[in-house]
Amino acid sequence: MQHVDVLIIGAGLAGCSAGESLLNHNISTQIVEKSSSLGGRLANKRFGGACFDSGAQFFTARDDQFKNFINDCINEGTVEEWYSNFPGSKDRYPRYRGIPLMNTLAKKLSKNLEIKLEKTVIRLTEKQGFWFTDLSDNTQIKSKALILTAPAPQTLDLIQKSNIQIDSSISNILASISYESCFAIMAILKDPSILPPPGAVSFNGQLINWISDNQQKGISKIPSVTIHANLDLDEKINFEDKTLEKSILNEAEKHTGAKIIKYQSHFWRYSKPKTTYKQRCLVGNQKTSLPPLFIAGDAMGGPRVEGAFLSGRSAAELVIKYFN
Ligand SMILES: Cc1cc2nc3c(=O)[nH]c(=O)nc-3n(C[C@H](O)[C@H](O)[C@H](O)COP(=O)(O)OP(=O)(O)OC[C@H]3O[C@@H](n4cnc5c(N)ncnc54)[C@H](O)[C@@H]3O)c2cc1C
Repeated sequence: MQHVDVLIIGAGLAGCSAGESLLNHNISTQIVEKSSSLGGRLANKRFGGACFDSGAQFFTARDDQFKNFINDCINEGTVEEWYSNFPGSKDRYPRYRGIPLMNTLAKKLSKNLEIKLEKTVIRLTEKQGFWFTDLSDNTQIKSKALILTAPAPQTLDLIQKSNIQIDSSISNILASISYESCFAIMAILKDPSILPPPGAVSFNGQLINWISDNQQKGISKIPSVTIHANLDLDEKINFEDKTLEKSILNEAEKHTGAKIIKYQSHFWRYSKPKTTYKQRCLVGNQKTSLPPLFIAGDAMGGPRVEGAFLSGRSAAELVIKYFN
């Protein structure tokens, strides 16, 4: 059985940010990620010669800690400003993008981290002051502390399925956090789109809320767009029935001005948090005798890419305090 000081669940930005902060502190760390690549919702897709950012499209930087990290990325060429003036937008924060793709941020942070990919955490057990974490490949990792970074409903589900007795105030916080869902369609166009610079349009209160042109963005060699549609999950959605997909594609073609010739879709059950907890990290074992359990991610302290980064940093600070 592998023994580490800290096990981090999730190699999204929060998990990678926490892991990187723990480097050089003499604290052994392992990250476990269920998917085959790192970055979580900083996701991308490639097919038919096109390349797409399929999850987060851009990010802003408001906090000095994140700004410093982004400035380092800009200096080394892994981040650039995509645009600063968005038609119709009042805020003037520059919109940044990763180079070549959004997951570059996670890749940069994870350079020296131990990450196991394609391993799902299925159960957490507490025994004699340690955490024992069961993975989908029937292996187990023993750790002194845990950082959980999955979207809050998935974290709560894992805790409940594991029968871990956390304080009801903590489960109530986790249960109160809800997310928007997003149906993403990545489409290859016959001709370049007619989307005006910077190659992105957002729409309020309509089925499609975002279209961006990956060719104008500089990601894709051939004309291609990412289309995001907000879904109301109170309505029963039958993904087998292609009516929804067809209406999104028809609507999108009005804006791209070019025919969609191939596409793939992805449903994001948890895209952006609608509600967040006020602190950047939630101490999950408070008021219990459980070993250290820190809950991080974009639902803590502030939503979106920047919030995930800062939440990971904050979880790492608490871990460092614990081990010192
Ligand atoms: C469609 C879409 C559009 C978005 N647009 C923007 C945008 O334009 N700007 C912006 O700032 N933000 C945007 N966001 C939000 C942004 O992507 C997230 O806030 C941020 O990436 C969250 O990072 P995270 O590390 O908290 O979570 P995640 O990226 O979700 O990372 C959690 C990781 O945990 C893994 N995991 C979960 N359960 C387990 C388990 N049991 N075992 C092992 N691993 C597990 C997951 O696979 C995942 O990799 C968007 C998100 C989506 C989906």
